[in-house]
Amino acid sequence: TTFKDLGLNADILRALNEAGYENPTPIQAEVVPPMSQGRNILGTAQTGTGKTASFVLPLLQQIANGAARPSAKACGTLILVPTRELAVQIVDNIKIYSRHMKASVAMVIGGVSANPQIQQMKKGVDILVATPGRLEDLQSSGDIRLDETRCVVLDEADQMLDFGFVPAIRRILKKLPQRRQTVLLSATMPEEIRKLANQFVKNPVEIAV
Ligand code: AMP
Repeated sequence: TTFKDLGLNADILRALNEAGYENPTPIQAEVVPPMSQGRNILGTAQTGTGKTASFVLPLLQQIANGAARPSAKACGTLILVPTRELAVQIVDNIKIYSRHMKASVAMVIGGVSANPQIQQMKKGVDILVATPGRLEDLQSSGDIRLDETRCVVLDEADQMLDFGFVPAIRRILKKLPQRRQTVLLSATMPEEIRKLANQFVKNPVEIAV
């Protein structure tokens, strides 16, 4: 399989080529086509398998295909992560893969001033990468809207569980539109994560790598 076989457009292929990626990893080959088409995904995957690109590339392809531009304070896609470090890493990856296309990205994490984050959200963004606590704060204050989110990705769900974020995740998921795409990735599938997936990830394509 090549990246081209996965249905990615020329702008994304060029960025991957420049990043030195030759072929998709197994998780990328499995996740990119169904996720590009809007399917829900439930994936068991460790870090180091190429899992970040496996969900970022289809998001970018959806944007390239003309996914609606979100309005003020809204995000088209929400990527929820357990740690600031992971948020930074994902944003860096998004920037590399989207360098030849137009996609707006914002990061909302705790431990730093909220004001620049609020500013970044003013016009709305295609992709928001967030940790649950700060996201809930800015949603409560009216600085972020979740009513236009078409797709949500929960990355490293088992770490979210370890950090006690599952109640926050449930509250956030309930605020998103019912009609949306949901992608959940986890290195392991403990019972609590299975339950979360059963409730929120309907009829998924299941992938284990
Ligand atoms: P991840 O599992 O998302 O943390 O990715 C692990 C590392 O593999 C990162 O440094 C990526 O930049 C790199 N990577 C991801 N996909 C590919 C690929 N198809 N070819 C080469 N490197 C890749």
